[in-house]
Amino acid sequence: VPPAEPGDPRGELAGLVAGTASLLRWCRRHRLLTGTGQAAGRVAGSTAPGTTVAEPPDSAAEVSVADGLEAVAAEVAACRRCALGAGRKNAVPGEGSARARLMVIGEAPGATEDASGRPFVGEAGQMLTRMLENVLKIPRGQVFITNIVKCRPPGNRDPQADEVEACSGYLRRQVALVAPRAILCLGRLAAQNLLGVTTPISVLRGSRKSWNGVAVFPTFHPAYLLRITDEKEKQAKKVLVNDDLLALKSFLEGDAGP
Ligand code: SF4
Repeated sequence: VPPAEPGDPRGELAGLVAGTASLLRWCRRHRLLTGTGQAAGRVAGSTAPGTTVAEPPDSAAEVSVADGLEAVAAEVAACRRCALGAGRKNAVPGEGSARARLMVIGEAPGATEDASGRPFVGEAGQMLTRMLENVLKIPRGQVFITNIVKCRPPGNRDPQADEVEACSGYLRRQVALVAPRAILCLGRLAAQNLLGVTTPISVLRGSRKSWNGVAVFPTFHPAYLLRITDEKEKQAKKVLVNDDLLALKSFLEGDAGP
């Protein structure tokens, strides 16, 4: 049987099966299910001897999401659906918290990411970390960070439409699993491909968008900021990014409504 491809319902079904199997394993590990499938646990907080203390149900959900994300990462690591798979050193599926309220989506891994297999670890990644921790006040480890395509395009060229399409199922599954409250979308390519528009990033940024029911905040990519040589222009663009981040912060804190 050929491996399931992104967008193939079999892949999504496999993810659901893996998540359910993981949940059942967790329940058995914590004695919430007996061999006959009956509940054997009890509510947390009871001190009666000889009984099993159950952890809160959201822990089980978290384990299930983490397993689902690992399943996606394993498929990405073996993927050859597009030409980018042949040229990579490492696939970069993404990383972060399975219960992140914020997802960060960039366009593609660069050289440092390709070498390490981790997203946003070069100079642009360090700027992203400062954006998250200094402006949004969210530790990097509490968000989930990924890209539109999971393998590095040669010479850091833009990913092509067929490559974005081939990879899109992985991103859809990651967003569905994490179910973030908001997405920070970095750069023209990420924003245009995610939102399915050709509008320039200078127009897209500055207002909240929506994708599959999730709030999307597009802004300039840190790598773009780093490339600007005119100091005055760089500072002006940084002010705009800061505005976008503050709008996102306000939204996450509930000031901007659902
Ligand atoms: S970029 Fe995406 S679709 Fe292409 S080989 Fe890598 S994981 Fe597969």
